[in-house]
Order: sequence, then C-alpha cells, then structure tokens
Amino acid sequence: MSSIFNISISNNRITMSDKKQLLKALPKVDEAIHSILDMVDDNVPQKVIKRAVQEVIDEERQGILDDTIVGALKDVQEWQQLYINRIKKKMSPHLTRMINGTGVVVHTNLGRSLLSTEAMQALTQAGFYYSNLEFNLQTGKRGSRYSLVEDIICELTGAEAALVVNNNAAAVLLSLDTVANGKEVIVSRGQLVEIGGSFRIPEVMKKSGATLVEVGATNRTHLRDYENAITEETALLLKVHTSNFRIIGFTSEISAEELVILGTKHGLPVMEDLGSGSLIDLSAYGLPKEPTVQELVKAGVDVITFSGDKLLGGPQAGIIVGKKKVIEQIKKNQLNRALRIDKFTLSSLEVVLREYYDMEKALKNVPTLAMLTEDSDSIKKRAQRLLRRIKSKIAEWCDCDLVPTYSRVGGGAMPEHGLSSWAIHLAPKKIKLSELERKLRALSCPVIGRIEEEKYLLDMRTIREHEIKDVADLLVGMFE
Ligand SMILES: *Cc1c(COP(=O)(O)O)cnc(C)c1O
Repeated sequence: MSSIFNISISNNRITMSDKKQLLKALPKVDEAIHSILDMVDDNVPQKVIKRAVQEVIDEERQGILDDTIVGALKDVQEWQQLYINRIKKKMSPHLTRMINGTGVVVHTNLGRSLLSTEAMQALTQAGFYYSNLEFNLQTGKRGSRYSLVEDIICELTGAEAALVVNNNAAAVLLSLDTVANGKEVIVSRGQLVEIGGSFRIPEVMKKSGATLVEVGATNRTHLRDYENAITEETALLLKVHTSNFRIIGFTSEISAEELVILGTKHGLPVMEDLGSGSLIDLSAYGLPKEPTVQELVKAGVDVITFSGDKLLGGPQAGIIVGKKKVIEQIKKNQLNRALRIDKFTLSSLEVVLREYYDMEKALKNVPTLAMLTEDSDSIKKRAQRLLRRIKSKIAEWCDCDLVPTYSRVGGGAMPEHGLSSWAIHLAPKKIKLSELERKLRALSCPVIGRIEEEKYLLDMRTIREHEIKDVADLLVGMFE
C-alpha cells in the first residue's frame, strides 16, 4: 500500500522520505537571522527581522506539509533572498499609491473618491495645528464640531438640519436606532439591498433593534402594500436606493413624494437611504437620472442619508439631512458619540462642500465629478499623450494602441451605465496577459487595468493628467 502510494505520487509530488528530508533541512531561526545581519540596514528593528525570518521558514514548513512546495532544497543565498524580500516588504508602507486604470471612478477597493489639493491642504492643517474643532470662537466656550459643516449642508440641500457621522452605514444605523428601536420599519422587498458584501439592510436593521416589515414583491411594491402593513408598532417608512443593481422589466416602486403623503396621513416619519447621494443632477452630463438630495428634501422626506465619498466626491463620511425634529433626536443619541467623524474628515469635507456653492466649480474642482463628466474627446487626447511617451520605447516587448471603451461610475451608482471612454490597449509580445497583469500589479506604484475580451486595457478616464509621466515611466521601466 505504502509503496504504491510512494510510486504513484513521485512524478509530481514529493515522497514521504523527501518530505522528512526537506523538513529536517529547514534553517534554524537564530542561524538564519545571523546569516543576514550584514545585509540588513541598521534602522530595521530586530523584531521585524525576527518575524520576517520566522514567517518565511514557517511558510516553507507549511508548504512542505501541504505538498505545495516540491523539489530541491534551497541554498543559503536563496534563503537569504527570501528573508530580505520579506523584510523589505515589512519596512515599506502597506497603504500605497496606485494607478487606477480600471475606469471605475468611485472604486471602493481603491479608495473611492480622491480629494483636491485644497481639500488636502485643509486636512494637513487640521493635523498639524490646533483648531477650533469644538471651540466656539464667539463665546470662548466649548462648541460643537458638527456646526462647522451643518450650515453649509443645510444651505446646499435646503434641509432644516444636518448631521455628519463616520460613514453612510453608520448614518443608517444611527437613524434607525433613534427612530425605530423596538418598533417596526416598513420596507419594500425589492430594496433589501446588500452593498459591498458587508452592509445589508436587514442586518443593520437588526443591530438597530428595529423589526423589519417587508412589503410587496421583489419587482413591484404598491402604496397599498405599505398602508396595509402599518400597525400600532410602526415607527418608520423606509426607502432604500437600490444603488448597485436594477430590477428591470415589470416593476414599480413608490416615489418619495407618495410615501411622504402616506406618512403624513398616519403620523409616521419617512426615511430614505440614498446611498451615493448626489447634489448635482448628472443627467445634464449624459449620466442617468438619479434623485438628488435636494429633490428628496423638497419631497418632504424626514431623514435622508448618503455617503460623503461616493458621488459627493469627499472624504469617507455619512451625511444625514432632514427635518429638524428628527435630526435633533438623532444628535442626542449616545451612539452618535461612537460614530462621530474626526477633524480630518470635517476639514476636508468642508472644502468639498464649499465647492458646491458654484456647481460649475464643483464639476471642475471635485475630482470625482471632473472624472465622471469628462467627455471622451478629452480623454482620448490624454490617452494619445501617454501613448506617444511609451509606444516606441516598449515596442520590442509590447504593442500598444488606443481603443474606445466604457468606464463605470462605481460606488454602486448607476450600475448598468457605461461612460464612453478611451483606453490604452497593451498587447505583450513575449508574455501572457495574466503575466502582464501580475507584473503591473507588482510595480513600486502598482498599475491596475482590466482584461476585457482578451485585451489588457488601461482606461484613461481614471488616469489623470498629472499621472501621465508617472505611468509612462512605470511602463517603460517595467519592460527595460
Ligand atoms: C454605499 C451605500 C451604503 C454604505 O455607505 P458607506 O458610506 O460605504 O458606509 C449604504 N446604503 C446604500 C444604499 C449605499 O449605496
């Protein structure tokens, strides 16, 4: 039995005796550390060296046991190289700049919205100097950190009151906890969304202590469905913007206006989780029509929540606007203290919000809006500038040309809408596409594109003018 076992796996896997030999040959940690001391900079802490060496050896051991590491013993130089690489990785910042060639503007995995120089300056100031974060300069007494942005948000949206918290998930949780803890909340079945894998309306509802009452069918919900579900226990009528998917075909949803009329009739507040939440009607720029925050305020919705770093183009934050009576209650909730935003968010958010006093300015100065509304001719010109810098220099290894493509809004907004754009198409001559993708991802400043119909594309909508030289240097350098 055991001989068959040995023979049958000896072609592609190691035999038991090889395994033992490999395990026995694993370096001792102390000796391994000693072997690289001369090769490591003085500023590398001993702890880091020890952990790096330990990890490399542990992984090797695990690999041998799992049969994922097969074959020859490593010599001293090979081991040293592994330790040094691991130490280098540990000593360099883990959060690193990247080039977004995916064409997804609000890319949650790549940090969502970018901030302008002005917004970053405000953030730097807030970190470097003391500030009036909670200090009222008129009275010389303690002030409210929220007052710094509340007025601006109210002016921009027309809302009676506003509040800012850590993110939109927090805004929803806090609002539900305040208004509906221990009570029932009525929601359309078609709006029980999951966002990015970790935000689910039913689960957030449970955490808030509210009971979810689903009404209607997945594709159609009528006003009478809401009305029939209202009981003594009902505390809130909730609408959720189905940001990241669309139900198409035979559908119907109740508008905010209709829900507000129903709420008023029964003395119930209405809340809408707007998700991406735009202050500008982007349909004027070729994007699909989405409800703006102002429209919902006008419709009389009592509580509206939205993200700061999606279509608004600011830092991570959750913004709550609506009727003064409810917002005041939300502000008093003890949970608010746990979900509050910090001075970095506040300082940069204020700058971004101020841009919106002049919508034309906002479209130019808020990077997310600038990228979303840039026309494809202008993207094409930028693509040509990059192409000119690289084409002849990498010609031996890689063909490149311009191709028309479609970018995405991202952040769950307008899921099925493609924004007409241009991409650099990289066609490697000596390596596979997967290898090219891996090499670009391994650069000191990783470059992330997308593979579409067997083509590697760098969508130029999300690669901005001031990055052209960097991208060119990275690409040319990679092939040299
Ligand atoms: C994105 C989104 C959220 C979560 O917002 P975060 O700012 O990521 O916490 C909640 N609800 C909807 C409808 C969303 O689109």
